[in-house]
Amino acid sequence: MNLAFRNVWAITVNDGFDVLRHAAVVTEGDRITYVGPDEDLVLPEGKEFRVIDGKDRNLVMPGLVNGHTHLPLGMLRGSADDLPLQRWLDELIFPGEAKHTPETLMTGALLALAELTRYGVTCFNDMYMSVRTNARAVEQSGQRALLTNVQIGVDPHHYDYLRENIETAEEYAGHPRIRIGFGPHAEYTEAHHSLNDSLEAALRFHAPLHIHVSETRKEHEECKARHNGMTPTQYLESIGYFQTKVLMAHCVWIEECDMDIIQKYDATVLHNPCSNMKLASGFAPLPRMLERGLNVALATDSSSSNNNLDLWEEMRAAALIHKANTLDATAVNARQALTLATRGGAEALGFTDTGCLVPGKKADLVMVDITGPSWHPMTDIVHHVVYAGSAHDVVMTVADGEVLYDHGVYTRLDVEKITAEADRLYRDVFA
Ligand SMILES: [Zn+2]
Repeated sequence: MNLAFRNVWAITVNDGFDVLRHAAVVTEGDRITYVGPDEDLVLPEGKEFRVIDGKDRNLVMPGLVNGHTHLPLGMLRGSADDLPLQRWLDELIFPGEAKHTPETLMTGALLALAELTRYGVTCFNDMYMSVRTNARAVEQSGQRALLTNVQIGVDPHHYDYLRENIETAEEYAGHPRIRIGFGPHAEYTEAHHSLNDSLEAALRFHAPLHIHVSETRKEHEECKARHNGMTPTQYLESIGYFQTKVLMAHCVWIEECDMDIIQKYDATVLHNPCSNMKLASGFAPLPRMLERGLNVALATDSSSSNNNLDLWEEMRAAALIHKANTLDATAVNARQALTLATRGGAEALGFTDTGCLVPGKKADLVMVDITGPSWHPMTDIVHHVVYAGSAHDVVMTVADGEVLYDHGVYTRLDVEKITAEADRLYRDVFA
């Protein structure tokens, strides 16, 4: 269905970061075809459009991009909180994950996708066991995604996961919305051979690698002790990782020498401010990364370490915590935070045809109800998005030109069934 949003506010996140009032945004098929003054819009004849009158009380902006998730890990949401990362992983998450069944993986993925849809996320990057299940779930939910099977070299199922990842990459080659990468978990959970296996597979498919890097100080320092003083990033460089695009989750403890490598190879940092706070991992040097012009995407991490997939909260956290951490109120501003969550994140993940409202780009966008008191007085709408707005103000989510969520109604997902199944499966399998 072609869509014409009329008389709306529009935050374009184009090169000039134009913000328009009394604007129109038009999509035809999977592309944006018009962004400009409503009064200048002439809809092409002979084509049908669903016309949505924004009444000057709705905002259209690019769909949000979530740079790092583990969809089905949400099945353990709330079951492992207020613990440091290593105990969280070893005592609760790894044993909990070992109980997953095909059914819990699919329901967990759909639950997460319903949440992403509700909060206006149209594109994301995931790593989890059973990439095939996640791909099937994303086929149902309608988003754009880069998916990887997690590889854990010390896990006896390593080769099963790798085989599934390779088969899924073959199956989804050329898919319009779903791309498959490879996901070695982290330097500290891998063996040299398994890191190499992932690299070889990624090179074969010209696919990116998605890996956790320097999330905790312990991990960063232990890597140096293990590898003659090399940081995780230096170690990955030494084994040839940067021959392909590397998407590096967290990078809380990276050093200037690591940023040199990230910059040299055009790698990407996936910044998860809320997860890093919840697991007490620390504050990633985001202001320095932005100053150096590194590729950065904003992300939630899983809803076991957050505990939601709300990228609006991440924008706000990214704009706030680095001010406090550096005692500099200019450290990360609202426009930078919104860029990280949209165009910047999309480009950093390699989705160069989405993330902004520009004719010719993919029709991935959200409409936001701005009638609530927190949106007024209307001083600076970008500031309101980051500092005052809420994911619950999203009223429409559109991905690839298709409406996925419309004023409380999911068009593709049966959210009541999914949440009931999640409750039942948690009781039966994990509790
Ligand atoms: Zn993660």
